[in-house]
Order: sequence, then structure tokens, then C-alpha cells
Amino acid sequence: MAPKSDFIRAIVAEDVRTGKFGRPVRTRFPPEPNGFLHIGHAKSIVLNFGVAQEFGGLCNLRFDDTNPTTEDIRYVEAIQRDVKWLGYDWEDRLYFASDYFERLYQYAVQLIEAGKAYVDSQSEEEIRRNRGTVNTPGVESPYRNRSVEENLDLFRRMRAGEFPDGAHVLRAKIDMAHPNMLMRDPILYRIRHATHYRTGDTWCIYPMYDFAHCLSDAIEGITHSLCTLEFKDNRELYDWILREVGIERPPQQIEFARLNLDYTVLSKRRLIRLVEEGHVSGWDDPRMPTIAGLRRRGVTPEAIRRFCEMIGVARADSRVDIAKLEHCIREDLNPKVPRVMCVLRPLKLVIVNYPEDRTEELEAPYYPRDIGKEGSRPVPFSRELFIERDDFMEDPPKGYFRLAPGREVRLRYAYLVRCVDVVKDPSTGEILEVHCTYDPASRGGEAPDGRKVKGTIHWVSAKHAIPCEVRLYDRLFLKANPDDVAEGEDFTAALNPESLVVLKDSVVEPSVKDDPPGTRYQFERQGYFISDPVDSRPGSPVFNRTVTLRDTWAKIQERLALESSTGKAS
Ligand code: ATP
Ligand code: MG
Repeated sequence: MAPKSDFIRAIVAEDVRTGKFGRPVRTRFPPEPNGFLHIGHAKSIVLNFGVAQEFGGLCNLRFDDTNPTTEDIRYVEAIQRDVKWLGYDWEDRLYFASDYFERLYQYAVQLIEAGKAYVDSQSEEEIRRNRGTVNTPGVESPYRNRSVEENLDLFRRMRAGEFPDGAHVLRAKIDMAHPNMLMRDPILYRIRHATHYRTGDTWCIYPMYDFAHCLSDAIEGITHSLCTLEFKDNRELYDWILREVGIERPPQQIEFARLNLDYTVLSKRRLIRLVEEGHVSGWDDPRMPTIAGLRRRGVTPEAIRRFCEMIGVARADSRVDIAKLEHCIREDLNPKVPRVMCVLRPLKLVIVNYPEDRTEELEAPYYPRDIGKEGSRPVPFSRELFIERDDFMEDPPKGYFRLAPGREVRLRYAYLVRCVDVVKDPSTGEILEVHCTYDPASRGGEAPDGRKVKGTIHWVSAKHAIPCEVRLYDRLFLKANPDDVAEGEDFTAALNPESLVVLKDSVVEPSVKDDPPGTRYQFERQGYFISDPVDSRPGSPVFNRTVTLRDTWAKIQERLALESSTGKAS
């Protein structure tokens, strides 16, 4: 792949050249442990670890765990597992903002002593009301001019637990008429009598994100603090705090566009709702855009990294076509995974001129020739087979080249067969069996007389078939933008009711019998699949569809290339 270049790398390269920070490049990935990571986080991980590595620096993993009410050790563990699985190593650089609580407190004391912070005893509601609007300045708090001594005393007593939640807050003393609303004496600390998952009941005051984040960066010697665009206005406060506490060569915050992916949602608040309201089976439901969901769906870490590199980083928000992700998944899996045959919706096919007691072992390659990989497995062939229900039509339309009365098709790797009869349920008319004759001279799939047979279908020998469950996953939402719903509805109204179709009667060829759960395949003509790591049992596998074989993104690319080569593109 070509060397990466984008506006962030250009800034970092320049800073390295000028020696701006006087220390090696240091980035961090700073998740809040209040949910599982999703593919938007992957973009940030790939960027932070990637930039550090390319410029000879290091990247930290830091949990931004300053909010006791939403955080959980379960999320800390899941996040570490996911970052590792994506292929990144923070080595001994695992940090927790909660480990800095004492130092953060001391920085706050320093601000109070410098007259840059004060204890406000208005209610949080009053504070909100008195902030003013974009057009009108805020109103100064009556407590704004408390003496340093009084502020120090109150702040110490806030920490000691003398006051209930909401009685006081610590605020920065900046400017209540500041054009940037976030600079109007922002809250730095709140009282929360809550048990923190790591610090327990040691603290009953907790720092706000804006206070904790910049100082955590500074404590760790971060050089480039990469974050998403919604923090653009926070940068002024980030810089203010670091300047006022006297940090030398402070980290520089740079914002980039967050990933928005079509047909899904990338916000933890919404993902939590999908889990809690039972729209999905959990954080690792294969329909979820979470790393855990994508993993269970069969997506590889390489495909996710390739996708993140393909979309790059930009300064402006945009939506990304999910076909790009699916394209990267196929590109990655195509050369990696073996082809096998699985019949999703089986229909019995009986070869009436094939001996009842005979079984042949046909050798079938695991990879098509263009992959250039060795390997094959024996596939048993016998008189009774299963084929795909929709590979037979009693009354086929024009252009249908599969099996129909009187027609001949190729059974992949096996023989040519011709349909001679159809057995139906006399009461319902449902087709129960298709009867064929085979051409014994066509072993391997070609007729000796060279007659043309257009259709090729896959099959599984009935006697040797392994019954399995197949879960066909599709896009979670019907709308590219799930917010695109009617007045009064929310994004859940756009959920795709067919995002999961479960097939209980599928059959797969016996070669997969001893493969461990989590093995990936291409089921010929059906798509890429993985045996579900959670629900598969020995002898009765469950397969998740990762993606179909239809690559709409590649098609779009081909069309664009064609248009530009014929001069049609504008
Ligand atoms: P969410 O909006 O899903 O709740 P968050 O920003 O609150 O996400 P954090 O745990 O704070 O979640 O995110 C950790 C890092 O990942 C942050 O630096 C954040 O900017 C980045 N990040 C989160 N979502 C995306 C996204 N969709 N695209 C790129 N980066 C993201
Ligand atoms: Mg956040």
C-alpha cells in the first residue's frame, strides 16, 4: 500500500521536523469504558497507533474513566480484548484517568490558588440558565468572587464529603461573556456520591471530561491529541487549562471527522439501546457495528484495518458507503478461506440411474485457480443429494440456466445430470424430490461429446450431509441514514426486520466436520461464512453469514473506470 498521507500526518511530520515538542511522538486511544468499541473507534485506533508507529513514537491505551455512573470493568476488559484483536499492542502503556485523580485534584487546587477557579454554589440548573446564549452574554455567579481561602476550604470540604450532590461545583474563572460558550466559566468538578468501579468510594468529587482529558494527555507526555470534530470548540478550553497550570510544550489537539457508516449507527448511546431493548442479542450480535459483533460475524482484523486505511482521515464529516466495508471484507477473505459446499434450503435430488449402494469420493479443490493456492478435499457423491431449492424451477423464466424438467446442469466437481421427473406432495403440490439421470461419462463435469451445459449448481450428498443451522445476516437498518424516519419516530423505526434470517434445515459437506468453531469458509455461490464461536456444537455447527458474494462497491469502481476511460465522466 502507498505511504499514507493526510492532514494529520502532514502536521505531525512538520512537528517532528521542527522538534516542536522536544520529545518523541506520543498518541493515545482514550475510550470511556461505558460500552463496547465500534468500527468508528477502530478508525481512531488505526489512526493513533498508525501515526505513532510511522513517526517512531508510541501510542498509549488510556481509559477515560472519570464518570462513575456509567462505567464498568466489563467494558474495560472488552475494550482491551478488541484493541488487541485488531492487532495493536500498548505494551506497558495501559493507563486510567482515574489513576490521576489525586494529581488532577492538585491541579485544581493550583488553579484556585492562582485565582483561576472558584467554588460556585448555584444549582446546576441555575448555572445552565445563567450561561446566556450565543447572542447574549452569561450572568456572573454571585459566588464568583469568593476569596482564594474560602474556595480552598470549600473545595477541600467537597472532597471530604461534607456536601450532598449538587451543593457546589468547581468552575474555571474565565469569562461569562466569552464568544465560545464552553469558555463561560466551565464546570471542572462535580460532587457525585457514587462508587467508582476502580476507586470505589475514595472520591465523591469527580472531574469533568474537559478538565481530566487535557491534563491526562499532559501527564502522559502526549504530543498529538487526536479527537473527533465535535471537540473542536473544546480545544480552546483544552489549551487554556494546560496554559494556566503551566504545562510546558503542551500536547496539541487535532480534530478529524468521525466515521459515519451507512445502514448502521455508531454511537454508544444508541448501541446500548439496541442491546437493552432487545433489538439484537447483545453487544456481540453479528449485526452490530461493534468490534465484537464484526468478529463474531466473521470479519477479520485485517479487513477492518484495510477499510480504515481506505477511508482515510479528513477534516469534514461525511457518510461512508457500507459497500466499501463489505468490499474490504471480501478482498481479505477471498484468498484466505477455503471453498466448500453448503445447501441452505435443501431439495432432494435422486439420480435414478446411479447405483444405490455406491459412493464415490470426488476430489474438489479448496481454492479456485486464480488464488494460486494448493489444497483439496474428497467430497462424497451418491445416489441421493441435496440441492438448493431455488436451483430447480418447474416452469423456469427465460434466462434461467439451472435445473428444470428436461434440462441438464452440471453438479459442481461431479457429473452432468438431466431432470426426468418431479415428485410432489399430492395435497399441497409442494415439490418433494427431483429425479434425474446422470451421464456416467461426464465425471468431473464435462461431457465427452463437448455439448454445452451452462448451469453449474452445488450439492451435498444426503447420506453424508452434516445438518447445520445457518444465520443469514443483513444490514441492521433499512435506511442508509437511520435518522431518516418519519416525524415522531426514532432510529429504531428504521430497523430492518429481516436483518437476521435463521435457516434450521441446512446441510454442509462432511469435510468441515472436525473444524473448530470460528473457522471461515466461502460457501460456493452463497457467500462468506464463519462457524459461530458461541453457539456451534460438535457435530451440529451454526454458520454466520459474513457477507454475500455480490460486490457492489467493486461494480461501482468498474463503472467509474469505464466512464472515465470513455470520457463520459464529467
Ligand atoms: P460514542 O459517540 O460512540 O459514544 P465516544 O466518542 O463517546 O463515542 P469514546 O469512548 O469517548 O466514545 O471514544 C474514544 C475515542 O474514539 C475518542 O477519541 C473518539 O473521538 C473516538 N471515536 C468515537 N467514535 C468515533 C467515530 N465514529 N469515528 C472516529 N472516531 C471515533
Ligand atoms: Mg467520548
